Amino acid sequence: MDEEKNSPPAGGAGRPMFQGNWKCSECDKEITELPFQPNEGQELSCKECYAKKRNTQRSSRPMVQGNWTCSDCGKAITELPFQPSEGQSLSCRDCYLAKKNS
Ligand SMILES: [Zn+2]
Ligand SMILES: [Zn+2]
Repeated sequence: MDEEKNSPPAGGAGRPMFQGNWKCSECDKEITELPFQPNEGQELSCKECYAKKRNTQRSSRPMVQGNWTCSDCGKAITELPFQPSEGQSLSCRDCYLAKKNS
């Protein structure tokens, strides 16, 4: 019901933690507290895996998974940093960067 309202941790004190009994979807480790209330069936990551993922992505922006085609070169696009609207022309990362730099 609630929209995702788990804002990125600001590192401040007094952040409410939710106690529970979950499992990390990556390493199966037990998770006993989370900074947000997870939805049922939501994939959860323990602190270590979360940090690892954050490091590899280098940004905390969520990626939208899907199956699109680049309107410039016809390459398949499988993830985007935003949810595209229907009929929107999309560019793969290469074309996007090429356009940006031109
Ligand atoms: Zn883990
Ligand atoms: Zn392209």
